[in-house]
Amino acid sequence: MQGWVAPCVCYYHIPVNAVSEVIFRNAELFTGERFLGPHDLRIAGGVIVDIIHTDLLKPKGVREVDLTGMWVLPALCDLHTHLREPGNPEKETIATGLAAAAMGGYGLVVAMPNTNPVCDTPEICEAQCELRRQAMSAQANGELPRLKPACALTVGRKGEQPVEFEPLLAVGCTLFTDDGDDVEDDEVLRSVFRTLGTAQLPEDTLVRVMFHAQNRRLMRHGVMHDGDVSWRMKLPGISRESEDVAVKRAINFGLEFHRAVHITHVTTAGAVQAIRKGKEEYERANLEHYLTCEVTPHHLTFTHEDVERLGAVAKVNPPLREENDRHELRKGLLDGTIDIVATDHAPHTAEEKAQPLANAPFGITGLEVALAASMTATGAHRDQDRATRVLSAMTSVPAGFACAPPYCGLLRERDPADLVVFDPGAEWVVNPQEFAGKCKVSPYAGMKLKGRVRLTMLGGSVAYGSLDELERVR
Ligand SMILES: [Zn+2]
Repeated sequence: MQGWVAPCVCYYHIPVNAVSEVIFRNAELFTGERFLGPHDLRIAGGVIVDIIHTDLLKPKGVREVDLTGMWVLPALCDLHTHLREPGNPEKETIATGLAAAAMGGYGLVVAMPNTNPVCDTPEICEAQCELRRQAMSAQANGELPRLKPACALTVGRKGEQPVEFEPLLAVGCTLFTDDGDDVEDDEVLRSVFRTLGTAQLPEDTLVRVMFHAQNRRLMRHGVMHDGDVSWRMKLPGISRESEDVAVKRAINFGLEFHRAVHITHVTTAGAVQAIRKGKEEYERANLEHYLTCEVTPHHLTFTHEDVERLGAVAKVNPPLREENDRHELRKGLLDGTIDIVATDHAPHTAEEKAQPLANAPFGITGLEVALAASMTATGAHRDQDRATRVLSAMTSVPAGFACAPPYCGLLRERDPADLVVFDPGAEWVVNPQEFAGKCKVSPYAGMKLKGRVRLTMLGGSVAYGSLDELERVR
């Protein structure tokens, strides 16, 4: 056992359509942990064969692509995606969601279990992986990102009774969440932690409970952040307190039961501060790395002022907050309090999102723009120290949290060629009509972003973009 369990993650294989051999010249290389400076990469048979200082590599007759000024990164990992299948293929399917992921540079996505039926048994995990296999065989060329289902904490996400953990652990599930809702009842949550405590856990694997930390009673029927904008718009607000209280509760449960707790989509300055303090407490209790959290690109980018401008398009839960919250989120990501960036990609149909704000469903999509949006929001496209933090938070760190196979989130010789060519100097205007996902409604529409994914290669096969196109934009 090497600290990861495979069955539930769709397996790696060398795609039949892997490019036979290619050399990327002069690429600024990011390993998943640090920048190495300009290097050449030789890819053959779906694998990274050589990573060498430029000009040392001189094979003849092999296609070469000059990537001067571009970055090569490991394919990204998203710990929080809603793929909507089974149950709501009109919003997104596993095929379209994974195509959106490939466009965004992702090689692995963790699917949230709030599907219909809810993903709370090994059979539903397997059904999702089967849908990916079908999508793979349906498309003529290219590879799809790998998929790892997260499973519900309680049966049917009803918040009443813990799921049967052992069969899920046995097929490789390591992430459990009722995402979309918190488990509100303290007694039920205790029994969840106790049941998990008695389950036989895979050796060397850290099983994580992912908290959608939001107190429903305090949230009431709010539809956006509770502040002067909701007041002006005469809409019921969602207080910061509803999140702050729930974050502290999640932190305390992890401490009490000595379990790894991951808090999804933090949005308030108070939550970031509570997590910063909580991490010190976990360290004192010898539970270092047991408290982790994520931020979404949209919370790094927008505030409640944008809701006034965009209406239901910017309706999301937890909501877009205020400038001081956004400042604290950016700071928390850069100082490491916030461990990872996760998309919370939550597609809906155009009709649903066209409703008045009060009636429209919560959710923003993000897979296609996550990297550029996160780089732009943090100024990381022009600062390698910041870029190191943001890129780690989207590659090696989440891949570790997902207990993904060791080649995910890192660029190393002899590993499968799962990589992204990123153009840090590109400036582009987001056009959601070009998104690969089904949902073309986006608060990023018309926005200028810095840095762009030019190519996603998975197992040596081009999953997004093309080598010809790469040469053209150079
Ligand atoms: Zn979610």
